[in-house]
Amino acid sequence: MLENALYIVPTPIGNLSDITYRAVEVLKAATLIAAEDTRHSRIFLDSIGVKNTRMVSCHDHNEAERADLIAGEVAKGGLVALISDAGTPLISDPGFRVVRELAACNVKVIALPGPCAAITALSVAGLPTDRFTFRGFLPVKEQELRAAIADLQNIECTTVFYESPRRVLTTVKMMGELIPEHPLVLCRELTKTFESVYRLKAAEAAAFLEADANRLKGEFVLIVGVPEKTASGETLSPEVVRALEELIALAPVKAVCRALAPLTGLRVNALYEKAMELKERA
Ligand code: SAM
Repeated sequence: MLENALYIVPTPIGNLSDITYRAVEVLKAATLIAAEDTRHSRIFLDSIGVKNTRMVSCHDHNEAERADLIAGEVAKGGLVALISDAGTPLISDPGFRVVRELAACNVKVIALPGPCAAITALSVAGLPTDRFTFRGFLPVKEQELRAAIADLQNIECTTVFYESPRRVLTTVKMMGELIPEHPLVLCRELTKTFESVYRLKAAEAAAFLEADANRLKGEFVLIVGVPEKTASGETLSPEVVRALEELIALAPVKAVCRALAPLTGLRVNALYEKAMELKERA
């Protein structure tokens, strides 16, 4: 049962089949659709059979006016759907001022769950998701970008960024320089034909992208993990942890740690701590 309300309606981030039955139902019933770019959204709306609904633009520069218009439409018994160019409105997209204004006027706002590039990327990254931070787009100015990336050394949970294909190489190069040991997952063209997920260490990522021009094309979500640390504070790269895991299944722990220490530059004790943790987990 649909209500007179403002509905926040997520739309696909690439694959047009990623639209929920409920989203289609709301879009078909809407008396007004507020879209970030009406021309862009008409193509998608046409594809789901929504053709003649009145549309208005709603972007960063006219949200205050649009809030009044939307509140008026709901007040006279209408149903308004807010959509953005792709994914979930308000997530690095316009809309929060509209929702804030309507909520302040006690107009009902109903959010539908649906596609979101950040959540899709997190689900496939293979990094811890018990706690994560979403940071949207990184700063453009070099000093601010540097500071934001350097700050990741102090972050103890997974961090999600949006990035444009024009800037991804610069960003990833800086990550390689400032946080080389951090795990980095590059999620490219999610839900689309050339969807790719690259799981690397920050130090390796720029060379990997530059090795093939196709790897730099399309839309990106970057996910930065936290490097593995031993209780003594030393950082073990994912490769060392993997080697340790495989070798302790074949040889005595102490011998493995003594052999790996000169190869990795890590202390025998740091390797031993990790090896015992892995044994307990096994
Ligand atoms: N509201 C959208 C959402 O829910 O994900 C995000 C809008 S934001 C303006 C656009 C950014 O999202 C892109 O620059 C890219 O970083 C990310 N993005 C959107 N679609 C994507 C996709 N299919 N694959 C990877 N990243 C995507």
